[in-house]
Amino acid sequence: MEKPLIIANWKCNPITLAEAKRNFELIKENTKTAEKVEIVICAPFVFLPILKPSENVKLGAQDCFWEDRGPFTGEVSPKQLVDVGCQYVILGHSERRRYLAEKTEAVNQKIKAALGAGLKVIFCVGSETKIPGEEMEYQLTEGLKGLDKRVFDRLILVYEPVWAISTTKEKVIATPKEAQEGGLYMRKILASLFDAETAKAARVIYGGSVDSKNIRGFLDEGEMAGGLVGAASLKSEEFIDIIKNACYPER
Ligand code: PEP
Repeated sequence: MEKPLIIANWKCNPITLAEAKRNFELIKENTKTAEKVEIVICAPFVFLPILKPSENVKLGAQDCFWEDRGPFTGEVSPKQLVDVGCQYVILGHSERRRYLAEKTEAVNQKIKAALGAGLKVIFCVGSETKIPGEEMEYQLTEGLKGLDKRVFDRLILVYEPVWAISTTKEKVIATPKEAQEGGLYMRKILASLFDAETAKAARVIYGGSVDSKNIRGFLDEGEMAGGLVGAASLKSEEFIDIIKNACYPER
């Protein structure tokens, strides 16, 4: 069985480099024996060249541009990310759609560029509605347009019900069953876009208010291959506990 994948999305946190370094080192130190879990920390761009990934704890970014270089003020390219030690990049997060009007067509270009540069892509597919539907179908169809099924060895999909993200005012937490339904819906779309085998083998993880108490439910009952963790990843002790509880089959 593939190791569960636990990804921290630090978003626009912390404020200081000192704190980022402290948290990163703390996680590295306390997860040395967690070889049963694949751990990734997606930090703000400015901290990436300073944080030192290890055998256990890999480094990821939270976005990238679709060109390698050129006159694109403020952008960061996938090749630049690789050069500073990144192996992963989050693309298509709902907060980028909500606050920066990011379109799925742009996400598609970014996914292609990131894969082309050798990064592993963590593609977030968000649902605003409780029942997964057309919106997710659109994100998957357009987001993965023009991609070959062979990319699935470096493509991780996140089922992220937007209403279950911890910082939304609804403060609703998805149940493992709801996560499972979202994952199954994504596999159904993948089967129609690629084939049944690809859909079955795809790595689908869950994101939305994951913590150390609910992670096992999402992995076991929810049949998720891992978790994308926002707010709870900012409290390093809690994040370490999530990793420990994700160790398969037991701590
Ligand atoms: C996220 O927004 O990627 C996320 C998983 O957030 P949280 O864990 O805070 O709900």
